[in-house]
Amino acid sequence: MTLDWIQPADRVRKLPPYVFARLDELKARARERGLDLIDLGMGNPDGPTPQPVVDAARLALQDASNHGYPPFEGTASFRQAITHWYHRRYGVRLDPDGEALPLLGSKEGITHLAMAYINPGDTVLVPTPAYPAHFRGPAIAGGHIVDLPLTAENNWLIDISAIPEAVAQRAKVLFFNYPSNPTAATAPREFFEEIVAFARHYNILLVHDLCYAELAFDGYQPTSLLEIPGAKDIGVEFHTLSKTYNMAGWRVGFVVGNRHIIQGLRTLKTNLDYGIFAALQKAAETALALPDDLLETVQTRYRTRRDFLIEGFASLGWTVPKTLATMYLWVPCPPGMGSTDFALSVLERTGVVLTPGNAFGQGGEGYVRVSLIADCDRLGEAIDRLRQAGIRYAPEAATV
Ligand SMILES: *Cc1c(COP(=O)(O)O)cnc(C)c1O
Repeated sequence: MTLDWIQPADRVRKLPPYVFARLDELKARARERGLDLIDLGMGNPDGPTPQPVVDAARLALQDASNHGYPPFEGTASFRQAITHWYHRRYGVRLDPDGEALPLLGSKEGITHLAMAYINPGDTVLVPTPAYPAHFRGPAIAGGHIVDLPLTAENNWLIDISAIPEAVAQRAKVLFFNYPSNPTAATAPREFFEEIVAFARHYNILLVHDLCYAELAFDGYQPTSLLEIPGAKDIGVEFHTLSKTYNMAGWRVGFVVGNRHIIQGLRTLKTNLDYGIFAALQKAAETALALPDDLLETVQTRYRTRRDFLIEGFASLGWTVPKTLATMYLWVPCPPGMGSTDFALSVLERTGVVLTPGNAFGQGGEGYVRVSLIADCDRLGEAIDRLRQAGIRYAPEAATV
């Protein structure tokens, strides 16, 4: 018996396939063929969670007072840990009662914020390429997404001056993310000032995703939205413990910023979930209070891999700019090759998994994202395999 007559709702049916799910299928097939995969496709950090965090979780697990439903708004002590951390990093004071809300990972919060604020047909500004939740959330909500194309020429920054006046007038929400996944671009403080002024002028809800707050190198300090005067009037910022603290499986993130906007998200979530297991909130507090040298270990690991891989790509003809943050390189496909074709060809010929740039929207076409989630031995092996397969970057008809 088939269930053809029970179709998922349009909001589900109309979603294009999640590229990572499709990539998983292709990886499974390559494995069946006996290929030893070097997976640089996902954004899944490869290190263990710091031991003090695991120890704190173990202790909290033994405490029966953590075993019931946690409070909807998160535990008071985790919210305080968030605002302390925020003050220590950015020098901005936030109210733990209302200006900080724990989330089941930032992806959950980003998508639900879209559902809490976007009505069908509302205009939403989303860069392309972007992290999928930034356009999937608005798509699920039925929003009318206006692409803000990012280009190498503009250092992958949003060109605010290129947004037509009529679009800016209509826009209700703008999503953005620096340091960026997938492009690894960073934005100067002046850019943040410009976008805050834009959002204030047009009454746009500004949503910043700062998931790489602490994965920065060479002395670079990412800017936080709420450092910008006036940003809290119109904006919120999402954070995650997944990346810096190697806690992707724990599902802990949070949002900070405008109280009224956070309240709307909280109201929706009150109807959907009960928040994070209280024992994990205890562990998350420990993570946010870790001494800086633990962070430096993680930063050094990614910086070393970045330098190693940029050199490896250079030996194959690629010029990949040095990134100041994130765990990615954003690498152009050989001229004339599309992202999907290039990523599939590399997978089939070498077993190296890269993410096709178009997984992040049309604006990612022509690029692949390479995650720095393997040690230098494996990264070296990946480069060797590309070399042996004759995969190189040869610029179009170099003129003399
Ligand atoms: C990894 C990532 C997230 C997801 O973080 P979770 O807290 O694990 O859901 C959100 N945004 C961007 C840009 C990311 O790269």
